[in-house]
Amino acid sequence: MRLIALLLCCLALPAHAEEFLTRLLNKPVPGGVAVVPLGDGQTAPQARYDGKPVLVVKEDGRRWIAIVGIPLTVRPGGQTLEADGRALRFAVGAKQYAEQRITLKNQRQVNPLPEDLKRIERELAEQTRAYRNFSSNTPSNLLLDRPVDGPLSSRFGVRRFFNGEERNPHAGLDFAVAAGTPIKAPAAGKVTLIGDYFFNGKTVFVDHGQGFISMFCHLSKVDVRPGQQLPRGTVLGRVGATGRATGPHMHWNISLNDARVDPAIFINAFQP
Ligand code: ZN
Repeated sequence: MRLIALLLCCLALPAHAEEFLTRLLNKPVPGGVAVVPLGDGQTAPQARYDGKPVLVVKEDGRRWIAIVGIPLTVRPGGQTLEADGRALRFAVGAKQYAEQRITLKNQRQVNPLPEDLKRIERELAEQTRAYRNFSSNTPSNLLLDRPVDGPLSSRFGVRRFFNGEERNPHAGLDFAVAAGTPIKAPAAGKVTLIGDYFFNGKTVFVDHGQGFISMFCHLSKVDVRPGQQLPRGTVLGRVGATGRATGPHMHWNISLNDARVDPAIFINAFQP
């Protein structure tokens, strides 16, 4: 009996190995990622979630999978992915995010002046357009390199209170590294936007393909230009503390189908 169980276990191994990407990336919670199988047809199915095009890749050369970004605002429960006219259901579980209290000396960064609000609105629209880019190329790698070597400081999704007032939750992942540290592209991509923003400071957007987009901000220096194609590992800028930052650190956003998701998933550092 024991031998049969052992044999079954061994036989089952190859099938599991083929689902490597799914096992690493499937974290279906608000701010996480749902991996939805789409079958093994000849051509890539077209998938949409919440009306937006979704990243579709072939897993281990066999079956198609959709890699869906789940916005932080989604409530746990059933969600629908449209794929070639079919409605596919997937479940989103619950996740609790921690709270963080931050003190800023500059009260204007907590309660911006009317002229700041105009600027913030314009900058938000510009960045939203960059997140909604959907290029047809397939990402070079979905398991991403760390853009800097250093400990993680503030996690994704943390509910943040600036000088006691709640603001948007943390949409990315922070690394505690010194000012001037080079930031490397975690996958190949095209620079789609560079800015110097009220909240984010000096910022670089890198489009890895099919709506899979990195954003790096609070930089001290930008080393690339818009439209530039970056091979994986290219230095794109230096760590700084520009914009609304209490000190030098690297802030990294990952977006899928215009949903900001936890970058820790892609560097195998996700905490449930
Ligand atoms: Zn941050």
